[in-house]
Amino acid sequence: MIIIMLGAPGTGKGTVAGILSENLNVPTVSSGDIFRKAIQEKTELGKEVEGYLSRGELVPDELTIKVIEARLNEPDLANGVILDGYPRTTAQAERLDKFLSEHGKKIELAINLETPREELIERVVNRRICENSECKTIYNLKLNPPKQDGICDKCGSKLMQRKDDNEEVMNNRLDTYFKQTQPIIDFYDKKGVLCTYEVSVKINRMGTDVAKELTERLKK
Ligand code: ADP
Ligand code: ZN
Repeated sequence: MIIIMLGAPGTGKGTVAGILSENLNVPTVSSGDIFRKAIQEKTELGKEVEGYLSRGELVPDELTIKVIEARLNEPDLANGVILDGYPRTTAQAERLDKFLSEHGKKIELAINLETPREELIERVVNRRICENSECKTIYNLKLNPPKQDGICDKCGSKLMQRKDDNEEVMNNRLDTYFKQTQPIIDFYDKKGVLCTYEVSVKINRMGTDVAKELTERLKK
């Protein structure tokens, strides 16, 4: 089963992907996580991409496509994957299609999350993430705080804040999203695989609720 997650930063893509991954037993691949790990480990890739992430710009297509295709070829993804953060440009979406059809596969569902812009900034600024790479549970200091300050409920590791989760970089990430990523929503709509959910405190629906609805739908 191949699922892709679409939506602006802060909509809850990572939350939904994480819950679906657990419930459906399908691994998640997050392009942002791959880049952040490379930066942390100071690899060649890390050095190349660091500037883009710190400014809230997209990593160039050729490099991103190379990294993700290499990951998609690994054996643990033979039965499916939830792609969180990829594709993000028309070029990436087209290459993914080509890659999948060459492997006799296709996208089953493109989950698109939509949230009002002002909510997104507030959410990202309050986001904290479990630093344990096996866990990576996402919290929000206001909407979904951990039981104990700064500590993950699930595994007891420390929580951290992403460097790009500040208002200034977030504004760039949002501009980047609306300019470069939003156009691909139409691409998936035309293919008939798009499923859009509104995620907002205003309608009292969060990522966790969407994940629950989708689990029921996909388990059938
Ligand atoms: P968010 O959706 O909250 O912005 P991600 O973890 O998905 O966070 O991405 C963080 C950063 O990693 C992006 O701002 C961008 O610099 C880079 N990145 C992630 N995925 C891609 C992609 N598919 N193409 C280009 N750059 C990417
Ligand atoms: Zn944890």
